[in-house]
Amino acid sequence: ERHTARRHSVAVIPGDGIGSEVVPAAVAAVDAVAAVHGFTVRWTEYPWGSDHYRRHGRMMAVDGLDLLSRHDAILLGAVGTPDIPDDVTLWGLLIPIRRQFDQYVNLRPVRSMPGVRGPLRDANDIDLVIVRENVEGEYSEIGGRFHRGRPEEMAIQEAVFTRAGVARVAGYAARLASERRGGLTSATKSNGIIHTMPFWDEVVAETVAASPGVALRKVLIDALAAELVLRPERFDVIVASNLFGDILSDLASALTGSIGLAASANLNPERKHPSLFEPVHGSAPDIAGKGIANPVGQIWSAALMLRHLGEETAAQALLDAVDAALAAGVLTPDLGGNATTGDFVSAVVTTITATA
Ligand code: ATP
Ligand code: MG
Repeated sequence: ERHTARRHSVAVIPGDGIGSEVVPAAVAAVDAVAAVHGFTVRWTEYPWGSDHYRRHGRMMAVDGLDLLSRHDAILLGAVGTPDIPDDVTLWGLLIPIRRQFDQYVNLRPVRSMPGVRGPLRDANDIDLVIVRENVEGEYSEIGGRFHRGRPEEMAIQEAVFTRAGVARVAGYAARLASERRGGLTSATKSNGIIHTMPFWDEVVAETVAASPGVALRKVLIDALAAELVLRPERFDVIVASNLFGDILSDLASALTGSIGLAASANLNPERKHPSLFEPVHGSAPDIAGKGIANPVGQIWSAALMLRHLGEETAAQALLDAVDAALAAGVLTPDLGGNATTGDFVSAVVTTITATA
């Protein structure tokens, strides 16, 4: 069923471990906000992940991509367990989805949240978004190992940047910056990586020049990493290649206090294909089944999904309700409290219903 203005069809993959605890929490929160804001979400659950792999030898159904392509968006919990290698999880589910649906933007919003203490003493006003190029760049399959076992043994890994690929991610980042505070930082290393990075700089600069009101600053990745720790509140939007964006995303999400808070989106901005929304954390086997997982990263990812589906006011209401719950001290153990996943969602749903 395709998307009509006020009815959205969403594929849900709870996955493994705490995925199956935080996903129902996010679904409940979205249903509450949808009821208040006059739209409905039709959820279709797909039981894919490690159990599916153990039973069928694949992370998802044979026609999984085809099934997913019929939905407006995909909400994912976490896939992976300690006994299954990471590359099975990645290549069996996440990478095929990312490629098939041309999800070339990986979005990682990072902000300070009320009632939550991060590792930095004075950083209380972080509000930035990392836009990571998600399908090309350093993570290519071109290269190999040569002269194995000989003194001249070597390994070569090629990075591939295309004009179209850099321009579209830079264009997305520039539009996002113009809707926010107008600041765009581009991560580079053109002093050391002399072919691909000057090309990245050139295409980013050309693309951003077409966006009035956006101030572009290009910063070497090493200096940028240091600045993110020392002055994170200075950043608005950061655009980075696949590898640099991967590293900066983890650094930035660590600044806010718990990995349980961090959200992400894998976007096909043109909406030609469904986009995927998932928390940054994994299946967390050490706390799975205890009902104490922090659902904020998953709920925030669902809010990114609502925004992508055009439900901007509902998305904001959801985030406001999360802030209200945190500010009221409803904190899961990872944030130093003793609230359960259920307590947190109840607080969010109560706020949403009360402000209706
Ligand atoms: P995976 O391989 O699935 O990524 P992982 O063990 O590498 O799993 P996470 O699952 O993200 O990584 O867990 C890292 C640590 O953070 C664990 O100690 C886990 O309990 C904790 N953690 C992760 N997510 C949450 C959450 N939502 N709430 C509370 N703690 C969490
Ligand atoms: Mg992990």
